[in-house]
Amino acid sequence: MLKGSTQLVAIVGTPIAQVKSPENFNAWFEREQQDLAMIAMDVRAPDLGHCIALMRGWNNLRGCVVTVPYKQAFAAQIDGLSARSAALRAVNVVRREPDGRLVGDMVDGFGFLNAARQHRFRAAGRQALVVGAGGVGGAIAHALCEAGIARLALMDTDAARQDSLAALLAQAFPAVELLRGCASLADFDLVVNATPVGMGGTGELPLPRELLDSLRSDALAADVVTSPPVTPFLELARARGCRIQTGAEMARAQLEFLGGFIGVMPPVD
Ligand code: NAD
Repeated sequence: MLKGSTQLVAIVGTPIAQVKSPENFNAWFEREQQDLAMIAMDVRAPDLGHCIALMRGWNNLRGCVVTVPYKQAFAAQIDGLSARSAALRAVNVVRREPDGRLVGDMVDGFGFLNAARQHRFRAAGRQALVVGAGGVGGAIAHALCEAGIARLALMDTDAARQDSLAALLAQAFPAVELLRGCASLADFDLVVNATPVGMGGTGELPLPRELLDSLRSDALAADVVTSPPVTPFLELARARGCRIQTGAEMARAQLEFLGGFIGVMPPVD
């Protein structure tokens, strides 16, 4: 139950009703008997600056999770960023320091890798394709490079986004072989859909059918889309015999990193 003493954590985005973090955080707080609660904040874009200013002065707020479409806007307006967030110019978690300063990090990529480990995927020395070079695709690609991927292909229908992510990664990780696009999936141990394609039951695939026909049956196919739980891309991959990783698994595997950064769960090494 929320009390006067309850310390708050928020999740900020718009729309917000679809997010799963409040259930996940509040179940953990209840199980651990913590006097903490997560609230969901649906904030209009013109008022985001006021929201951030209010957070600095909100004494019983410990921090927030940041979701679509504000990951980049928060990064531009808060008071400190991790090196990874500064490079990606995006945050998905913010901690409020006791003096009111707001500092951010981007742990979407950690959540992804944490879930992938549960499917026996280890990035070191492997080859991967990330489709979508936006907020979440950038975070996943960055985490794969940090974890020692040998070869990484990026694909985005927005060529400028694809090129700017490739340039950022090339500078930060010179040992990784970076490809822009690909003609076959046969080399990849991991193929990730990091676009919204497949969301909401449209039946769409993120890659052309001919290309998907070259997906290896021993590859891990992963999607960031959480609804439907098994996207058309994952259905197709499963039918080919691949291991599949859902968007919901990635979201669940992030909980400890988000809570650890805010300081409301034990820190993760
Ligand atoms: P974004 O808009 O920043 O990036 C999406 C990118 O996909 C864009 O660059 C766009 O050009 C590209 N794209 C779209 N269709 C494409 C196609 N057919 N082929 C290649 N590229 C294509 O969005 P985002 O913040 O990265 O979010 C993407 C999705 O990830 C959303 O559906 C979001 O809900 C989901 N998400 C899931 C989790 C999770 O934990 N499961 C976490 C964060 C975001």
